[in-house]
Amino acid sequence: MPPSSFSLRARYVLPVTSEPIEHGVVTVAGGKIVAVGPAAPGGGKVHDLGEVALLPGLINAHTHLELSDCERPLGTTGLRLVDWIPQVVAHRAKRSDPGPAIVAGGLFECLQAGTTALADTVAPGFSPAEFERAPIRAALFQELIAPTPERADRALERARRHLESKPGGCWQLGLSPHAPYTVRPELLDAAIDLAARSGAPVAMHLAESLEEVELLATGNGPFRAMLESLGAWSDGLVPVPARPLDYLRKLAAAPYALIVHGNCLNAAEWDFLAERRDRMSVVYCPRSHAHFDYPAYPLGKMLAAGVNVCLGTDSRASAPDLSLLAEMRFAAERHPDVRPATLVELATRAAACALGCHAELGRLVPGMKADLTAVTLPPSPDADPCEALLHSGGRVVATWIEGTRQPPFPTAPAGVRLVDNSATLP
Ligand SMILES: [Zn+2]
Repeated sequence: MPPSSFSLRARYVLPVTSEPIEHGVVTVAGGKIVAVGPAAPGGGKVHDLGEVALLPGLINAHTHLELSDCERPLGTTGLRLVDWIPQVVAHRAKRSDPGPAIVAGGLFECLQAGTTALADTVAPGFSPAEFERAPIRAALFQELIAPTPERADRALERARRHLESKPGGCWQLGLSPHAPYTVRPELLDAAIDLAARSGAPVAMHLAESLEEVELLATGNGPFRAMLESLGAWSDGLVPVPARPLDYLRKLAAAPYALIVHGNCLNAAEWDFLAERRDRMSVVYCPRSHAHFDYPAYPLGKMLAAGVNVCLGTDSRASAPDLSLLAEMRFAAERHPDVRPATLVELATRAAACALGCHAELGRLVPGMKADLTAVTLPPSPDADPCEALLHSGGRVVATWIEGTRQPPFPTAPAGVRLVDNSATLP
C-alpha cells in the first residue's frame, strides 16, 4: 500500500497558475495535494526527486486509442485528408481484431509519457475492460458516424446506451459526432440534445481542412467525391450553404464542447469560442497537423483572441506516438511566439477546463487531486524551467494518479541526478 501522506521535492515545481518554485515541495495526503511551497508543512520527511520538473499530470484532450496498432502514421507526410480517410477505413477493415490489447497498449503508452487523463474517442463495439483496468482517467467519447439516414437511428441508440452505461473506473462519458461530413444534421441535433440532457461533453472534428469548408459551402469538391466512393454520401448530409460557425452554434448547446482541430476557423469563430471559453474549447493536435502539412496553425492568434485551446495527440494513424509531452515540444518548435509556460498550461489547466474538471485537476494547488508527473531537466536548467522542459529531451521518470505512483518507468538518463531512485519513491 502506498503511504497516504508524503512530500516530494523537485528542482522546479510548476504549479501552472503561479510562478515555478525552485527546489519546491509538493505534499500529498489522502490522494490530494495539501501543500505546495519551499518546504513540507511541519518539516516532515521529503523525497528528493533531484533534477526534475514536477508538474500536474498531462491531459491528452483527443485520442483514438483503437488505432494504437498503427506502427507509423498512415500515408506520407503532406497527403490530403480525403486520401487519408480511406486508408483508415482500410486499416480498420483489414485487421482481424481491433481488440482490447490495442487499447491497452495505447493506455500504457500514454501513462508512460506522463499522461494521467485523456479524452478517447471509442468506436462502436468497444470494450470498457481495458479502461477499467488502467489507472489513467479516461473520458470515453462514443464515436457517432451516420452519413446516411438509415444509419442515424442506430447511431443515436448507441449514443443513448453509451451514456446510460456505467463502466467501472471510467472518469467521464461523452459523445463524439465525428465530423460535419460523416454525421447527418438530424443526428447531430439529437446527439447534442441528448448530451445536454445527460450533462455529457461533446467532441467533434470541425474545420480541419479547406476541402471540408468547401463541402459545407457548396456541397461539392474532393470531400464529396471521397464520400461517394465509400458509399457514404446522402443528399442533405450537409445543409448547404453552411460554415463552421453554424456547427459551433449547435455545439454551444452541449454542457462542454471540444472542437477538434479547428484549423480553418476564422476570427469571428474564434470570438464566438472566446465568449464561451468556460464551456467550448479547441483541441490542437500539433503533429497530426504536421502530418497533413496544413498551413501554419494560428495558435498564437487563437490564444490572443481568448480561445481556450488544449492539446491532443490524435491517433497513431496520424501521429508517430501518443506522447503529449512530445506534442508540447513540437508545438514549442513550431510556435516560438507562444511562451513555454503557456504550452505547459494548454496541456494541463486548459485541458482540465475543456473537460469541466478544473476544480480537481490541471494545477498544483492545495485541494486538487494529486495527479503529478516528474520530467528530468538538464543538469543546469535555463532560467525558465518551462523552456528547459520543452527544449530538452528530458524523460518522464515518475507519475502519480491521485497520490498513487504508477509503475513501471525507465530510470533517469545517464548524468541526471536522482537522489531517490524511482524504486523507493512513495
Ligand atoms: Zn481525431
